[in-house]
Amino acid sequence: MERSKRVVFISHCILNQNTVVYPLARAKGAYKEIIQEIVSKGIGIHQLPCPEYRHLGLKRKPMDKLEYDTKEYRSLCKHISQDTINMMKEYLENDCKVIGLIGINESPTCSIGGIKGILMEELIVLAEKEQIVLNTLDVPEEYFDGKDNEKFIKELREFIKN
Ligand code: SF4
Repeated sequence: MERSKRVVFISHCILNQNTVVYPLARAKGAYKEIIQEIVSKGIGIHQLPCPEYRHLGLKRKPMDKLEYDTKEYRSLCKHISQDTINMMKEYLENDCKVIGLIGINESPTCSIGGIKGILMEELIVLAEKEQIVLNTLDVPEEYFDGKDNEKFIKELREFIKN
């Protein structure tokens, strides 16, 4: 079958809420409406690793950006960012379109809009350095599976349309 050659990069927990710090999960597993929307357009989903899960595991406590911002955690996020940029370049060099990057608003690690999380800070700096133009979008704090997410889903439709 012909591939769509279109791929979107997403924060890990959009597909797997099991990694989210307790008790902040907003879906049982994946964010269904978001994933359905992307899948229905034939777009591939490239899931980033969850840095907080890698760093402190499932029993971690809620922490803010300042608390996460250690040398060790920065270095993990830099490493994940470099790896991600390499993968983006591979897609681009093989005629695939990188639709963009979807993060999680207000996350100390994965927020893109407003105050950037540590991973996204590193990733976006690297993307600029490599001259990769990245469209970005955040899942808003009020997104909750099964609630009224129409406003965000409309934004998502616009985001993935090209
Ligand atoms: S670090 Fe990112 S991927 Fe992991 S739970 Fe937090 S927002 Fe989701």
